[in-house]
Amino acid sequence: MHADHFLDIVPMRYALKYGDRTNARKPLLYLPPGGLEMLRGLVSAFARESGDFLGDVFDVRTYDPSAPLHVGDMVVRFAPTSHYIATFAIRFEAASASVTYSADTAPDERVVALASGTDAFVCEATLSADGEAELPRGHLSAREAGVMAKRANVRRLLLSHYPAAADVGTLETDARAAYAGRIDVVDDGFRIEL
Ligand SMILES: [Zn+2]
Repeated sequence: MHADHFLDIVPMRYALKYGDRTNARKPLLYLPPGGLEMLRGLVSAFARESGDFLGDVFDVRTYDPSAPLHVGDMVVRFAPTSHYIATFAIRFEAASASVTYSADTAPDERVVALASGTDAFVCEATLSADGEAELPRGHLSAREAGVMAKRANVRRLLLSHYPAAADVGTLETDARAAYAGRIDVVDDGFRIEL
């Protein structure tokens, strides 16, 4: 797990432990294999607090990326991606709606297959130009995200995980070169209804 994808678990833990609550339920926290050891290692560096840092507020579980995961009425499926460490793209299906999140990946047919026909494809667009100088690759440009969206025949594409200084219009134009469906360049607080 790379820290840009999970470090906000720490402030969330404090919000759940000390913030206003209307119930004492513990949110489910699903981690990839090895994730709990990673988080335990991280929190071991903090000043000691009584209790179980994570377990007191989260219902911590580990998912098996090789099998569908059932969470309430939702089915969650995984596919390995092309990244520098073990990483999984995730597809969520509930009722008639589906969302696939690419996670961090270079162009990868396994992610295309997972996203096939999905209503909303949230795809990373880390690179400002196609390709990477060094191998192995681990990320996509916005145009490559558009290619993935086209190949997966998704209903709409949401570009995410792009450089903070990136121009939103350029990201959309680059993805549009490959993908004809609706494109949104998303940021914090973006909401969609499916
Ligand atoms: Zn990342």
